[in-house]
Amino acid sequence: NHITPTWAFIAGLVLITDGYVAAALTMAASMIGDLSLRRHPSRVLFNGAMLSLSVGAGIAVLAALGARQTMLDQGPLTLSWAAAVMLAFGAMFVVNNALVSLVIALREGLPLTTVVKRDTGASVVSDGLLLSLGPVLVVLGRASPLLLAPVLIVWYLVFRSGEIAARRQHEATHDPLTGLPNRRLFFERLREAVAHRGTRSEGVLGVLILDLDDFKQINDNLGHDVGDAVLIELALRLRKRVGDRVLVARLDGDEFAVMVERAEDLDVVWGLGRALHAATAMPLVSNGFPLTVSGSIGIAVSEPFGEPTMASTLMRRADVAMYSAKVSGRGVMVFGRDISDDSAPGRLALVSQLGNAIEGGQLSVHYQPITDVVRGATDRLEALVRWDHPVLGSIGPMNFVPMAEQTDLIGPLTAQVIESALRDCAGWIAGGHDVGIAINVSARVLHDLRFPASLQAAVERAGLDPTAVTLEITENAVLREPGRAARVLSDLRQLGVRVSVDDFGTGFSSLSSLRDLPLDELKIDRRFVGAILEDTDDEIIVRTVVALANQMGLSTVAEGAETQAITDRLIELGCDVLQGFHLARPMPGPEVAGWLAAHRPVVDLAHDELEQPLT
Ligand code: C2E
Ligand code: CA
Ligand code: CA
Repeated sequence: NHITPTWAFIAGLVLITDGYVAAALTMAASMIGDLSLRRHPSRVLFNGAMLSLSVGAGIAVLAALGARQTMLDQGPLTLSWAAAVMLAFGAMFVVNNALVSLVIALREGLPLTTVVKRDTGASVVSDGLLLSLGPVLVVLGRASPLLLAPVLIVWYLVFRSGEIAARRQHEATHDPLTGLPNRRLFFERLREAVAHRGTRSEGVLGVLILDLDDFKQINDNLGHDVGDAVLIELALRLRKRVGDRVLVARLDGDEFAVMVERAEDLDVVWGLGRALHAATAMPLVSNGFPLTVSGSIGIAVSEPFGEPTMASTLMRRADVAMYSAKVSGRGVMVFGRDISDDSAPGRLALVSQLGNAIEGGQLSVHYQPITDVVRGATDRLEALVRWDHPVLGSIGPMNFVPMAEQTDLIGPLTAQVIESALRDCAGWIAGGHDVGIAINVSARVLHDLRFPASLQAAVERAGLDPTAVTLEITENAVLREPGRAARVLSDLRQLGVRVSVDDFGTGFSSLSSLRDLPLDELKIDRRFVGAILEDTDDEIIVRTVVALANQMGLSTVAEGAETQAITDRLIELGCDVLQGFHLARPMPGPEVAGWLAAHRPVVDLAHDELEQPLT
């Protein structure tokens, strides 16, 4: 509600001028004011017409009560005159308030009574106050124009403090970055929506919660400016997609919420969820960075029959569905249909389930080939863990390995992956395939001085040659506790296993800081590799890493060979051992033997006339 001093002016006009003049002046003043605020022409007209109507109502009441001429004729201002004025202003207020409420009700799709109940209090205070100032001005002006000055000052101050209060109110209920309503306002509106549903059937009330995937990465890697720009852009897209009648809010951080009222059925809400998911995934350019973001959406609805679901319950359910959508990678999930309370892991419940999942055999290991493309031979397979959740389906490692690393669960998790991977690898070798195995090892495990001995025992149990085993460690894992890491690494070297630095280039180490460690290989991160075709800097990085690694006696592997073009370029840059979707995607253990049989190494021709084996 925008507070304007117009009302006092109008009230004065009604008392001292002819009816037509009052209506025309009111309309003109209102339209000039609205135009200066650059309001939409339809709104300018509407406001003008509405105020004239109110003026008409006031004058009609004055006339009916025989008080119309009093001021015009400079007659005595009696008590009955004052009563008539009060009634006339009451009529003006009622007409105006009814019309405004009607428009708001139509725009927000709410029943008129709800809007009247919600907004009338504030209007009585602002408009009513200004209205009652009108006659005071007129009367004082008639007595002595000088007296107008203090009244005008009071009027101005009241107007200002009203404005400040309105701004405070806005700040308390809106997010300063995107201008969207905040969590508080969203929850308030949701509670109102639930409250006025009663048990009447009014379609479906839906809450959608959207959370960006990996937003922290954007913030950390590209800076907060880029992160902010992404949020602003996203807010615009959401608003645009849902239109004016649907409430969109920013709950906090990278979390947004949408409230849909009176949807026909669940499918309509679901359709909106899909549409918002698609709108989020569109590429955007933020501060000059081309980016693709993605989000996960959870939906909860209150059905049209029975008791309405409480607002807080709707919020919690949408949150659970959102989190399930995120960890299962399914994008959009509906509470009650795709996931329910007893099966749904909340954010914390998932961690607590992980322990049982490890014991209960819910982890499986997939394998992705790492290929020596020049020989056309599979060098080894990387073990990549999956959580086969009974309800959520297959959950990727990024959704629970970091969580396990925060707890002691990473120990048993790694032990299981090692056990399976070594056993499977021994099986492939027994089947006549000359391949090794690569296993990811977290920092926490690498800092455990007992790790080399337990690995040795596992390798012996599987009957494998330790040289078939490569451990992939991240550079930050080494740097966090260089002393301990160096001890464990040299024990591992003694054992005969190979050590590869995973995600090389994403940490903060320089090659020289790794020089003193017993390492065998650098694994160039797919984030550089993905861009080598477009970005010459990334190409130089890859070329330099390969050259320096060679000088230091290290070999190199590149991840992220997603296309033939990238694969060709990597070979040109001196990287022959590659991993990527173009060569093979990770596959379940039982499929590996068949894949290996179908991709036997090309017979070495001892020339460079080599076939491209894998396309
Ligand atoms: P990583 O070690 O960098 O593993 C490679 C990841 O890149 C795998 O994802 C793989 O599916 C994906 N990838 C392979 N080729 C391509 C490609 O051409 N393009 C793209 N875009 N991606 C490709 P995944 O399986 O989701 O694993 C994610 C991460 O989870 C791994 O990254 C690793 O850091 C961690 N992880 C997986 N298994 C384990 C484990 O058993 N223990 C520990 N500590 N971490 C694990
Ligand atoms: Ca790895
Ligand atoms: Ca990697």
